[in-house]
Amino acid sequence: MRVVFTVLDAFPHSVIESEITPNLAQQAAMGAMPATGGESLMLSVTYSNHAAFMTGLPPLQTGHWGNWAWINNEFGKTYDSGPQGRTIFHDCEDANLRSVAVVGDHKLLATMGALEANVSWPPAGSPPEGTPLDAYGYPKDEAVIEAAANTDLDADFVLFHLNEPDTSMHMYGPDSAEARDQYQRSDHSYGLLVDLLKPLWDDTVLITVSDHCQEPTDHPECVNLRDHAKNAGWPVQIRNDGTGAIVIASEEISEEEFAQLQLEILRFEGVGGGVLAAPNVYLVWTEPHRMFGRGEPLTRGNHGSPRCTQQVAIVSGGHPAARNLGASVLRQRPGTLSWAPNIRDLLEIGAAH
Ligand SMILES: [Zn+2]
Repeated sequence: MRVVFTVLDAFPHSVIESEITPNLAQQAAMGAMPATGGESLMLSVTYSNHAAFMTGLPPLQTGHWGNWAWINNEFGKTYDSGPQGRTIFHDCEDANLRSVAVVGDHKLLATMGALEANVSWPPAGSPPEGTPLDAYGYPKDEAVIEAAANTDLDADFVLFHLNEPDTSMHMYGPDSAEARDQYQRSDHSYGLLVDLLKPLWDDTVLITVSDHCQEPTDHPECVNLRDHAKNAGWPVQIRNDGTGAIVIASEEISEEEFAQLQLEILRFEGVGGGVLAAPNVYLVWTEPHRMFGRGEPLTRGNHGSPRCTQQVAIVSGGHPAARNLGASVLRQRPGTLSWAPNIRDLLEIGAAH
């Protein structure tokens, strides 16, 4: 059996229909797609959800709380630390199964532990000279497709990732004409990836997801909680993450003091809500249309809040096991943590096997 996990970064479940996204709609029709899609972890951002896709572990265990890692009591880049915990790539290696990863955000390879795959692209996590890049410097969909076409996809586990929908929504907003054009283009790109799977289709289970969606960030002023916390001398460290932010309590403060601080944070102008995710980790989000930062927003669309947790979730493929997995995601709405255990079951890898 071959399991293929395909991520369309930030792609909204809500736009899937046969006119705009014929290829996604076809896989949904042939396979299974829950009516409300899937559900991301909070924060609704890229790296923490991708680390969780490949480990099946929540942020408390991977250390990836958003697009930032908190490991050994300090913030760092998720692609410097990689996820804490075992990944599907480790399990494939131990079971002598062949794994392949071809991704449009090169920093994802390290974030997901995918540098351990037998073949990964971009090579060593760095786009080769001459790779066409999007406005944010990530390989364009066309580069991913070309790399996938040049890769031997006769593997046990394949990871694909397309990044362009995320970049276009950041630049223009999720409801813009430009974003709508991007949805069509990325659906076309997705169709080309599916075509590459046709030779072994009867042996394939194809899981198609997105990591989160986006919301408009058209309010002219960012919510500058971070500078406020610094100026007020609050004993916390904060990292902005679009329409979400990560607040970590310093070791000195008590649970009661942190609880008091959370109330102050909720009173700060532009903050929409928060949730205590661990005794020392408070995840917060903005009011609609706003994002965290300083001054004017740099994006027209962003993500991070509970308003962006809806994911694409489609199970298809020619292998009979696709039918069982499809039925199970229709019975119970899947989320970020659903996929790794299912992939391990399908490939008979990991601790349980
Ligand atoms: Zn993303």
